[in-house]
Amino acid sequence: MSGPAMPKPDAETISRRAEIVADMRIIVPGEGVVDTDVEMRAFESDGLTAYRQLPLVVVLPETTAQVARILKYCMDRSIRVVPRGSGTSLSGGALPLEDAVLLVMSRFNRILDIDYANRTVTAQPGVTNLAITHAVEQEGFYYAPDPSSQIACSIGGNVAENSGGVHCLKYGLTANNVLGVEMALISGEVIRLGGKHLDAEGYDLLGVMTGSEGLLGVVTEVTVRILRKPEAARAMLVGFPSSEAAGQCVADIIGAGIVPGGMEMMDRPAIHAAEDFVHAGYPRDVEALLIVELDGPGAEIDHLLARVEEIAAKNGATTSRVSTSEEERLSFWAGRKAAFPAVGRISPDYYCMDGTIPRKELPRVLAGMRAMSEKYGLGVANVFHAGDGNLHPLILYDANKPGELEKAEAFGADILRLCVEVGGVLTGEHGVGVEKRDLMPAMFSEADLDQQMRVKCAFDPNHLLNPGKMFPQLRRCAELGRMHIHRGQMPFPDIPRF
Ligand SMILES: Cc1cc2nc3c(=O)[nH]c(=O)nc-3n(C[C@H](O)[C@H](O)[C@H](O)COP(=O)(O)OP(=O)(O)OC[C@H]3O[C@@H](n4cnc5c(N)ncnc54)[C@H](O)[C@@H]3O)c2cc1C
Repeated sequence: MSGPAMPKPDAETISRRAEIVADMRIIVPGEGVVDTDVEMRAFESDGLTAYRQLPLVVVLPETTAQVARILKYCMDRSIRVVPRGSGTSLSGGALPLEDAVLLVMSRFNRILDIDYANRTVTAQPGVTNLAITHAVEQEGFYYAPDPSSQIACSIGGNVAENSGGVHCLKYGLTANNVLGVEMALISGEVIRLGGKHLDAEGYDLLGVMTGSEGLLGVVTEVTVRILRKPEAARAMLVGFPSSEAAGQCVADIIGAGIVPGGMEMMDRPAIHAAEDFVHAGYPRDVEALLIVELDGPGAEIDHLLARVEEIAAKNGATTSRVSTSEEERLSFWAGRKAAFPAVGRISPDYYCMDGTIPRKELPRVLAGMRAMSEKYGLGVANVFHAGDGNLHPLILYDANKPGELEKAEAFGADILRLCVEVGGVLTGEHGVGVEKRDLMPAMFSEADLDQQMRVKCAFDPNHLLNPGKMFPQLRRCAELGRMHIHRGQMPFPDIPRF
């Protein structure tokens, strides 16, 4: 596999493959084990398709007991495990390893409980994000976090990545909407964190688990909060002559105390790509477009729309249009939600970055990106969760041209370093995975990383769960004296330790 260095495959595990596959078939009878190269191709990458690797074997369990048995089996034999939901991660979190079992949770696809009195849904982790809303919308409820991939991504994957979406500005990320999980540990033990209640005693392990990217355990059940659908919602398209003016407008709206249901920005290349693809009615003669949605009681929306229009005009908006029907509101969003596939039509390949910055730094970061685009000779289209300061630059490249992927990777790394430099962070919602793993020291001190590693060691002392993701080095577990040495062998001897 090209791309980031991964832990050296364990030759002993690979030599025992036939035996491991046979044992997996005993634990998961029927069609839950996939071991031919042709069939495993479907699992060789996630949404970060630049990197591919066939796993040792793919296992699709159906019950928590099976997950627990697989994990215990792997722990007893020092076999690595990569958990996977729907495989839409954009940071390579579900990238397989040659010597690891790929534990796919997609057959955990049932909604287990809908509790309107407590306003919760309990679902198996393979249930898609959108299916939760579909299950409760007839009663006027919905699940608020709405990643653009919501039709496909799993709720277990959302917990593992702490996913966000356009409506998270007002309603919070996954972390703010998950109330409880059941999870299997690498030891095969099954634990419950949180529940239907609002707060739990003891350490906030649910908070630790949310965003843990498959490194601490395998989520086997999720309880989320559902919300009553707002009485009404209207969206507004506002065009600007520059991204800087649009960025200032975003800051002014938030500064005025208005928290829209969603506030997204697209730059010219993204606007044109989306408009050509879904014909959402976006203006083509602007450099930046804001989609601002206000929700709540009708009278409140009218009042806030007028205030937003006023703020936009002060910032030099050249076009402004408010949705007049639910159909039109959804079409405004359709362009934004289809922005990634739309950009896929204008470039053979694109590399989606995910950094977060303080809102006021947007002009500086955009100017920096323009300079980088010239330096690397690669185009970039931008979509932002503008209200959250979460950027998604899409770097355009052609993987068939030698050296372009490496240039795109270097361009992306420069963007993320700039995000950190202006006071932001490496990721808003897509996770660290393999993509940003080696940039972690740009953001965290050694002491920070040590402390995070201690948490990892407490859950998975032998580094069997999703190794090679998130942490740039495994050295600290050894230095802390908590790494398990199996038959005198140091795990991952190839990974530098200092
Ligand atoms: C077109 C497109 C648009 C996207 N838009 C957004 C967006 O708007 N917002 C956003 O936040 N993300 C977005 N994403 C990224 C992705 O959809 C999310 O990260 C999503 O949460 C991943 O879910 P998944 O089920 O596909 O997980 P996977 O890709 O299968 O896995 C992701 C990570 O979670 C771990 N994992 C998965 N299931 C479990 C489990 N049951 N237990 C423990 N660990 C597990 C894996 O090990 C891996 O580290 C987008 C992706 C695409 C392709």
